[in-house]
Amino acid sequence: MGGFIDLHLHTTFSDGTSSPEEVVHRSADAGLSIISLTDHDSVGGVPAAQEAGKALGVEVISGAELSAVADGRDIHILAYFVDWEHPEFVACLRLYRERRKHRAERMVKKLNRMGVGIRLDQVLAKAGDGAIGRPHLADVMVEEQMVFSANEAFHKYLGYSKPAYEPKYSLSPSEAICVIHKAGGLACLAHPGLYPRDDLIPGLVAEGLDGIEVLHFKHGPAEVDRYSNMASQCGLLKTGGSDCHGDGRGEPILGSVKVPGEFVEHLREAHRRRGASASGRPA
Ligand code: AMP
Ligand code: FE
Ligand code: FE
Ligand code: ZN
Repeated sequence: MGGFIDLHLHTTFSDGTSSPEEVVHRSADAGLSIISLTDHDSVGGVPAAQEAGKALGVEVISGAELSAVADGRDIHILAYFVDWEHPEFVACLRLYRERRKHRAERMVKKLNRMGVGIRLDQVLAKAGDGAIGRPHLADVMVEEQMVFSANEAFHKYLGYSKPAYEPKYSLSPSEAICVIHKAGGLACLAHPGLYPRDDLIPGLVAEGLDGIEVLHFKHGPAEVDRYSNMASQCGLLKTGGSDCHGDGRGEPILGSVKVPGEFVEHLREAHRRRGASASGRPA
């Protein structure tokens, strides 16, 4: 199979800056033949991307990146091959996004009390149809010249334990894994090197985790080795991607993480097996 693979991409349906169609076009230009859209708490971009992908020869695997909390720590669970029309999954993601809106409101209030005069309507306009996140607040703060960069907004106000931070609505990992499975998807731990709480992984495996993101833009060779070994030891699938959020969100990294074709083949096989067992057919 020719072409490169990137299984971790964001669009305007969360805190990415490119529309789903743009992401597919950029992927085709970068020589990618298989991608997955993994927006935070949204599968909204998947249908349009799949449509655009057909015309450009880019396979778009349905995906999302769900927020969960394990032992007080925010972790992200990637869903692959989910049925993006599954009613319970759709309702679950809708609730996530509604709560994100309330959270944005609380963060705007905190900022206002600190003298940072941004308005909720500005943040809502930035987020559009997407799941609202801290980057949208940071965008408004940059635009209004209250900070020089998004990074400064996070360092001064929005980062964990900074004064305007508010926690997100999150499921427990087992609840997130369960709803992903109900929607026919595979649940994979995103960027474990960024937490880093490797001690949580065995518990997640016991709760049904299917895979782990071994390759990620922020994983160095030591992390890639460590998580490859862990995947083998725990019988986990391996995934990988850049986690590109688009222009103005760090370096242009779409397609920069070289994901082997066998990662996708193994994910596909596991998804097929799960579908077979769910329908009562022998695996
Ligand atoms: P949220 O989902 O609202 O908690 O926002 C988390 C998102 O903020 C991450 O997915 C990143 O896209 C982004 N982010 C995290 N840290 C920073 C930072 N220091 N500078 C810019 N963006 C960041
Ligand atoms: Fe993000
Ligand atoms: Fe993430
Ligand atoms: Zn991501």
